[in-house]
Amino acid sequence: FVHLYSEPLYRGSERLGALLVQRDITKEHESDRLKSEFVSTVSHELRTPLASVLGFAELLLHKSLAPERQKKYIQTIHQEATRLTALVNDFLDLQRIESGKQAYDFRPVPVAELAAGVLELHQANAPKHRFVFADRSEGAKARADADKIRQVLMNVIGNAIKYSPGGGTVTVSCYRDGDRLAVEVADDGLGIPREALPKLFGKFYRVDNTDRREIGGTGLGLAIVKEIMQIHGGDVRVESEYGKGSAFTLLLPIDGGERPRAPSPPEAG
Ligand code: ADP
Repeated sequence: FVHLYSEPLYRGSERLGALLVQRDITKEHESDRLKSEFVSTVSHELRTPLASVLGFAELLLHKSLAPERQKKYIQTIHQEATRLTALVNDFLDLQRIESGKQAYDFRPVPVAELAAGVLELHQANAPKHRFVFADRSEGAKARADADKIRQVLMNVIGNAIKYSPGGGTVTVSCYRDGDRLAVEVADDGLGIPREALPKLFGKFYRVDNTDRREIGGTGLGLAIVKEIMQIHGGDVRVESEYGKGSAFTLLLPIDGGERPRAPSPPEAG
């Protein structure tokens, strides 16, 4: 995309002619396109549960229904309103993160301790699951914002439980990987189809297979995880076999892990 315009060219007050300016606006155009695509996705995501709330509320208002049916509709309204709230919260969270305006408080964080704490929190609400925690990080600390990493761990460990609906084992392992601290969260749940893997961290992306249609979510959780990890100079990786299980690995820079720079040789001469 090219923006063409002419600028009058003067010498003193004498007009010499015009200057034809050509500016490449491909980048601006692309970012505008992405923005409007995002807005339309968001409106669509909000409209679907809203339509359902409205529809069921209207049925309740205008039809005389048996009490069981009423109760069912009210449950649906409650469920959809809960989904809307989660969507708006996740969405605002992602916006805040992406705007770059959020302050990060980077400190040395014992991530293994953090992971153990998050695991314990989830454990209380997942009676069908078995939890294994292996810490081989030798007390290594990451350079991280503890609250943000707690949020990431909540998300990834929460997913491991949520996407193994029949129960199973969730294993969290912490270890050093060169100058990075790794936290691997593995489950033996539903797994992820190979073709979904490249899209998994995209906004609003959800695997829409019959095996997980009943499982609620916004499709923003992993997008938030990815953003937070990148702001840390870290990364998140996924390995999965459909029907067998998944493993998400979070990588964070170890605090003080940067090698000290070699002293530069004395200037010649
Ligand atoms: P959601 O709100 O749908 O859980 P996420 O962004 O957290 O959104 O995850 C995106 C999709 O990735 C999910 O819809 C789910 O199908 C898949 N997924 C994430 N974690 C796992 C996991 N541990 N096992 C299987 N599938 C997973």
